[in-house]
Amino acid sequence: MRPVTCLTCAAEVLARKSSWDQTTVQWSAEAVERCVERKQQLPPNERPNRNAFLGCHALKDSVRAAAVRGALEIQDEDPLKTNPEAHQ
Ligand SMILES: [Zn+2]
Repeated sequence: MRPVTCLTCAAEVLARKSSWDQTTVQWSAEAVERCVERKQQLPPNERPNRNAFLGCHALKDSVRAAAVRGALEIQDEDPLKTNPEAHQ
């Protein structure tokens, strides 16, 4: 797991990518407090699968950006085919 900070709301979560399409995100209580979009989606009672929620769209982009620049390693070693940013 690697810490990734949302570029919009500054929530810091722990993220792990098993592939380019699969991301696991672990939320701390503080990150939940910070992410506006997450708060809006969370019902009064906490969901049992709360770790499945990836947060706001900005966080998804932030996680992807971290993976693209190598700050977040992809567990799956398959070469990337679709991300143009990786071909630098
Ligand atoms: Zn956010």
